[in-house]
Amino acid sequence: KLYNLVQDLKGNIRVYCRVRPFLGGQASQNSVVCSIEEGSMSLMIPPNSKLGKEGKKTFNFNKVFGSSSTQGEVFADTQPLIRSVLDGYNVCIFAYGQTGSGKTYTMAGPDNLDEDTIGVNYRALRDLFFLSDQRKDTIIYEISVQMLEIYNEQVRDLLAPEGSNKRLEIRNSSSNGINVPEANLVPVSTTSEVINLMNLGHKNRAVGSTAMNDRSSRSHSCLTVHVHGKNLVSGSIIRGCMHLVDLAGSERADKTEATGDRLKEAQHINKSLSALGDVIASLAQKNAHVPYRNSKLTQLLQDALGGQAKTLMFVHMSPEPDALGETLSTLKFAERVS
Ligand code: ADP
Ligand code: MG
Repeated sequence: KLYNLVQDLKGNIRVYCRVRPFLGGQASQNSVVCSIEEGSMSLMIPPNSKLGKEGKKTFNFNKVFGSSSTQGEVFADTQPLIRSVLDGYNVCIFAYGQTGSGKTYTMAGPDNLDEDTIGVNYRALRDLFFLSDQRKDTIIYEISVQMLEIYNEQVRDLLAPEGSNKRLEIRNSSSNGINVPEANLVPVSTTSEVINLMNLGHKNRAVGSTAMNDRSSRSHSCLTVHVHGKNLVSGSIIRGCMHLVDLAGSERADKTEATGDRLKEAQHINKSLSALGDVIASLAQKNAHVPYRNSKLTQLLQDALGGQAKTLMFVHMSPEPDALGETLSTLKFAERVS
């Protein structure tokens, strides 16, 4: 009960857990998860584990999605937050977790773009188009998107037609707030336009990577939706923005293997994920000082973290016993920010 009270006080920060199903061919393994309730998830630490005391360990969340949860169910709980963007709120939705835990599945969905399995990004935009159309007699909305990548603490434009290699600056202006003026800002009004842009973004993201080097798991990608509305009756202007962030994999680099570029990447990821954790934790604790300036990620999202802004963190975990070490460190991050 005390826990619920604390959650209510925090209001603007929600943390959801999503457990990935076993992937094809692994179904005979035992999941580390031993029980799931609406707002908690318990896992079992095996005997003689170096990871902690043997037995059941329970973690609390605003909501837990088990391995059979559908994309539609996950979106249904996200939808109110997305809709509030049209009322002028700023929103951040994050996917956190180790590589392979389902972050991209939640945000983008699988590549086939099947209607049943498309992710939060597409559903969010489709919903914004639908709702803004419903309001068109009183408010005229313009919706536009940017897609950025943060790799090794450098910001790049994933919607640059000529590729994404230019480094961009994050600016703060009194009229536009935090923004990246050099990044393409593309007006959108249909789902197919969004799909084309996301395809361009994914293509640009792949350019920087070699076969051995899956950059998408070691960079943050951020789809930002800017909403501008004009009330035809009162003349007032509504501005809202939403960042949909597929974070870099949270796994610790293997200390014995990581050298050179890999080590540098790992250090940058580590730094920016802990900076994000620090910011959200200090917002949750209502600290006077919020350390936004410690990473490009938190600088970029500053306007949409804290104040009236709403934050949703999807914490992803893999069910495999082999992943338990990373899963526990993911859950530790979740505890810090919730
Ligand atoms: P990440 O982005 O965290 O590295 P992915 O989203 O790429 O992980 O997921 C890894 C694999 O698991 C992919 O093949 C993906 O399609 C699959 N997967 C992840 N989550 C689910 C889910 N909820 N249901 C079915 N398949 C999933
Ligand atoms: Mg991914």
